[in-house]
Amino acid sequence: MAYADEKIVEIVQLTLAITNVDIGYLTQIEQDKAVFATFNNLAQRNQQQVYATIEQLKETGLERSVPFAQRYNEQQQKLELPILPTTTIGSFPQSLEVRQARQLWRRGEWSEDRYNTFIEAEIDRWIAYQEELGLDVFVHGEFERTDMVEFFGEKLGGFVFTKNGWVQSYGSRCVKPPVIYGDVTFIEPMTVKETVYAQAQTDKPVKGMLTGPITIMNWSFVRQDIAREEVAYQLAYALRQEVEALEAAGIPIIQVDEPAVREGLPLKANEQQAYLDWSIRAFRMTTCTVQATTQIHTHMCYCDFHDMIASIESMDADVISIETSRSHGELIGSFEQNTYPQGIGLGVYDIHSPRVPAVAEMTSMIDRALQVLSPNIFWINPDCGLKTRKEAETIDALRNMVTATLEARAKLQVQV
Ligand code: GLN
Ligand code: ZN
Repeated sequence: MAYADEKIVEIVQLTLAITNVDIGYLTQIEQDKAVFATFNNLAQRNQQQVYATIEQLKETGLERSVPFAQRYNEQQQKLELPILPTTTIGSFPQSLEVRQARQLWRRGEWSEDRYNTFIEAEIDRWIAYQEELGLDVFVHGEFERTDMVEFFGEKLGGFVFTKNGWVQSYGSRCVKPPVIYGDVTFIEPMTVKETVYAQAQTDKPVKGMLTGPITIMNWSFVRQDIAREEVAYQLAYALRQEVEALEAAGIPIIQVDEPAVREGLPLKANEQQAYLDWSIRAFRMTTCTVQATTQIHTHMCYCDFHDMIASIESMDADVISIETSRSHGELIGSFEQNTYPQGIGLGVYDIHSPRVPAVAEMTSMIDRALQVLSPNIFWINPDCGLKTRKEAETIDALRNMVTATLEARAKLQVQV
């Protein structure tokens, strides 16, 4: 990787090279080649077993064991969810205390035990809030995660980290993308401990929460010696082992977030379909091995979805949630032309401001969505990003969301 200093050196070398002033640039090029040769031969970049497994997987259809319609029935029976089930997208507020605890633990000032106890106490508190609010599908809250990618990169093989390679994500928010320098490998379960802990505190289903292969790739610095498609499959194969570990630990619902799929779409129209095809294959590779009764969710952030609804459908997730409020419900229009068969939640309120939306606002979003989507497949959730909000406003907003849901359910009952 080249940062500012290295780039300046390269510019000087290139300038001298084209003006034929050789003050050693040829020697430098030879040295660089040798460095690259050593780098390319690293065992971490030549995990033959990973390549062989992925070749085999690519030959298969990457299909779930039974089609959606049948899975839907089996999952309804197992999960016993009400009509218009309520849930959230994964994270809960990351208070100053949460961020401080993570730093203290990273700096070694807090022991592993002390940190774990702190995270468990946060999970306990938020499981209790979710019970009290009467939500249907719970989450553990993602308190142990800095962002959606660094957390996983630190636990998978093939990643390294910079100390200061910050990238602006939006506004004043920055992330530190990891570097995928080697073959991606699954080392040990990454999310099972916290998810299982949360599930043990409640009878409601807890939704496991992972970042998907395409999002991890699009939000990392990616090696260039193999195709991005191959990197995506390596991530998919590693994450599939996490999905299987969650399922084996008794987690009934697993969400694989893919907010960054759309932003990786190539600008050239003739390259777009191929990208979508392998992105979907990677998602399916991640999720296809679970039992019919394990419900797979995915989540996508606000973007221009109109041109990719067909691709979203072929991801074959049981439920997708899409951030909607920033388009002021415009997305709902897309479903007028398309009949969308799988489970779907369109964020019923915008979380990007501290104001608590009134019940009536959410009711109108729900009513509008139910004009084009069947109540049998519609889920009720806020938009993503609750980790950026304060505790009190989050709870008040979710309380209104549940009230709006109860009203919507009552109206449906009257209609039946
Ligand atoms: N599960 C993540 C969260 O709720 C999803 C974030 C996102 O959509 N970017 O924070
Ligand atoms: Zn999102």
